[in-house]
Amino acid sequence: MTSPSPKLSLFLPVYNEEENLPRLNAKIFEAMAALGQTFEIIYVDDGSRDRSLELLEQFATADSRVKVIAFRRNYGQTAAMAAGIHAAQGEILIPMDADLQNDPADIKRLLDKLDEGFDVVSGWRKDRQDAFLSRTLPSRLANALISRIGGVPLHDYGCSLKAYRREVLKDVNLYGEMHRFIPIYAAWAGGRVTEIPVTHHARTAGVSKYGISRTIKVVFDLVTIKFMASYLTKPIYLFGGAGMISFVISLLAAAMAFLMKFADWPKHADFIQTPLPVVAMVLFALGVQFFLMGLIAEIVVRTYHESQGKPIYAVKARYNF
Ligand code: UDP
Ligand code: MG
Repeated sequence: MTSPSPKLSLFLPVYNEEENLPRLNAKIFEAMAALGQTFEIIYVDDGSRDRSLELLEQFATADSRVKVIAFRRNYGQTAAMAAGIHAAQGEILIPMDADLQNDPADIKRLLDKLDEGFDVVSGWRKDRQDAFLSRTLPSRLANALISRIGGVPLHDYGCSLKAYRREVLKDVNLYGEMHRFIPIYAAWAGGRVTEIPVTHHARTAGVSKYGISRTIKVVFDLVTIKFMASYLTKPIYLFGGAGMISFVISLLAAAMAFLMKFADWPKHADFIQTPLPVVAMVLFALGVQFFLMGLIAEIVVRTYHESQGKPIYAVKARYNF
């Protein structure tokens, strides 16, 4: 019963999208027919409480290229994306939203761009149809920040519609809101990343599942990512550095307190008359903590790499093996 792998794997997280699904499915098939490539469509039902799953089952019965993964409960869009990536058999992986805000007709342009020699083509909702203050503006700021910290300049990390060559997704593990950072992982692994503007429609049915709080989560994820990128194999450098700074300031504060008490320089002050001894003690304790945390992080990192057989490098090719 194993069919040959398709060229394209589309995957779509679905959470309470019953009103959008019929038209969405039809539009995808239309776009695929125009492309003339082999394909599969993987719908990941993220614990919908409406009739979404029922509709998806109907699509799957009608056409064996439609595959459905149904979660037991709502795990969130990132988990649904991860399931899609995991299940995808195709050479090119294309995530998309299931609310018709992305347009399946754009897939052709993404593929054309991939053919120019890229590994990731990111969609950019240049003319985004979402509320300005609560969505578009914070997203712009977040994108600028992500571009800067991640070192991969893209206008729209949040746009779901992207196209990836299978290889660049092989080693990514997704947590939190991190599906949006896949282009960064890909670039770090040596992939070529670019973007093109894509159409964005206003939501005409169903409701958005997000508000401003997501931007904050994204910023936290970004801190994690940056840490993983810079210090994952050497956390003691970061924690040790912070520890050293604490120790130095602690020593300076202690020295100052002694000078004031015993040398009356620049003026006399007993230990209880200045905050310096407290500062010295707190920073000393903090410095010790930083070092210990660094050592624990070193142990955790070794467990992370070794328990999963994760190498600390990514190989592009091997010859004559
Ligand atoms: N989604 C999901 N699980 C969730 C929230 C959202 O699978 O917990 C899906 C949702 O059905 C849609 C996509 O993720 O296909 C994007 O969600 P939404 O349209 O609400 O986000 P927005 O476009 O407003 O950023
Ligand atoms: Mg949407």
